[in-house]
Amino acid sequence: MSKKVYTTNKGAPVTNDQASITTGKKEGYTMMEDSHLMEKLAHFGRERIPERVVHAKGAGAHGYFEVTNDLSKYTRADFLSEVGKKTEVLVRFSTVGGERGSADSARDPRGFATKFYTEEGNYDIVGNNIPIFFIRDAIKFPDFIHTQKRHPTTNLPDANMFWDFMSLTPETLHQATFLFTDRGTPQDYRHMDGFSSHTYLWYNEKEEFIWVKYHFKSTVGNETLTADEATKIGGENPNHATEDLYLAIEEGNYPQWDVYVQLMTNDEAKEYKFDPFDVTKVWYHGDYPLIPLGKLVLNRNPVNYFNEIEQAAFAPSNFVPGIGPSPDKLLQGRLFSYEDTQRHRLGPNHHQIPVNRPKNAKINTYQMDGPMNVDDTGENPYPNYYPNTFGGAEPDESFKLPEMEVQAVIDRHTRPTEDVDFVQTGEFYRRVLDDVNKDHLISNILGHICDANENIQYRQCALFYKADPDYGTRIGEGLNLDISKIKELSEMSQEERVKATLK
Ligand code: NDP
Repeated sequence: MSKKVYTTNKGAPVTNDQASITTGKKEGYTMMEDSHLMEKLAHFGRERIPERVVHAKGAGAHGYFEVTNDLSKYTRADFLSEVGKKTEVLVRFSTVGGERGSADSARDPRGFATKFYTEEGNYDIVGNNIPIFFIRDAIKFPDFIHTQKRHPTTNLPDANMFWDFMSLTPETLHQATFLFTDRGTPQDYRHMDGFSSHTYLWYNEKEEFIWVKYHFKSTVGNETLTADEATKIGGENPNHATEDLYLAIEEGNYPQWDVYVQLMTNDEAKEYKFDPFDVTKVWYHGDYPLIPLGKLVLNRNPVNYFNEIEQAAFAPSNFVPGIGPSPDKLLQGRLFSYEDTQRHRLGPNHHQIPVNRPKNAKINTYQMDGPMNVDDTGENPYPNYYPNTFGGAEPDESFKLPEMEVQAVIDRHTRPTEDVDFVQTGEFYRRVLDDVNKDHLISNILGHICDANENIQYRQCALFYKADPDYGTRIGEGLNLDISKIKELSEMSQEERVKATLK
């Protein structure tokens, strides 16, 4: 076997990698001319790229999506066009608030981002393991995330920041309740469901459209950790979910999800009892049953984690013909911010990194040049402007989104909390959670909110109480609060409640 020669980054042979070029056998001045040493140290100092502000800790794998049910009358998306059609995918799972080295077992939503390498371009569903989100307007997103991170002075996670924001933003209650059940600490990435959370648009060749939500149901079911188990695992093996995903795939035990959709017509959307574009709410299964669509299988581990997972760039703005956005205000902000953060993290040409490159579609773009551009335009000379008469690529109107009629009053429309905002949390608490799940929810919340100031505890307990009196009472009792005061606060408007609990 011929020896593999170690080279510099430019391909020249390295003659010695154990000794710098110096002036002496023992002590010695190091020579600037040691270009291998300079290259090695300089590259080392640049090995990190900016960590994601959210979803920094993650794991991922490659696989495929296969259509199992023909819903092509609703969408012209080619990758959904026939039963049996398979599309390569990349999936990245993550926690949300922690840094890149944080524990996989943290109480946190889990990111569930899927890139479909379709023949019509890359399509990303950038979802979570929880079907709803804390807030419904993107302008609140940076504030919300700050409250999940470290306090600017102490550099510590802070229960006051967390519960102050939650209690001042009642729309967070539904997801906060999910988060403090044991589903906030899934056993690993295989034993959890995924959701698009947002509502999206599907449209067909006749430009007829329908609203859609995606659900990914794990074929091995939802398994969770108790708070004690999560703490223990976090200490013993902070990478347990990363390891589980990698080993399962290595052993041929491929993680799999059945993929379903809920579909709602535009007429139904106008009449539904909840705003169907409000991401803090679900569409009840009883009203909109899950319709099978396909299956998602992960069967190949990355060979180079940094290249294939750390540099993976997901953005909900990556659509293909047949699929588009909805007027969900959180989604509308994400359509900008995800792609924007990738430009910051990886540069304006991040789509040329192999894992982000459309594998099964051809790029014919006039966006050229910029840092790290490695693309060959393919033709010489190729115009870099449009329109042109040199045979450059042409837009194709036949793929366009359907016309959408909108009546608009342009304003910063604030959305006060309404009683309807508490209905689904109440249903979840009463109808979905059994006694054991309720007990765990209560003790998980108490273990966290106990560190918040009393006025904040009162304000938050009033919200629990509004969703369900038993819920508010049990948390209030656990904190030794006055239940009649909680009840009184729960009957106030949010504005009055905030005034009454400033101190
Ligand atoms: P259903 O009563 O038909 O089903 C209950 C849903 O709750 C199932 O999806 C179930 O998931 C999920 N669930 C069960 N236990 C837990 C738990 N401990 N933590 C989190 N989720 C759990 O739902 P409805 O559509 O009638 O909605 C009732 C309430 O259920 C909603 O207000 C919402 O809070 C919640 N929910 C609804 C979902 C939806 O998309 N409609 C999705 C998830 C929750 P599984 O079957 O995997 O156990």
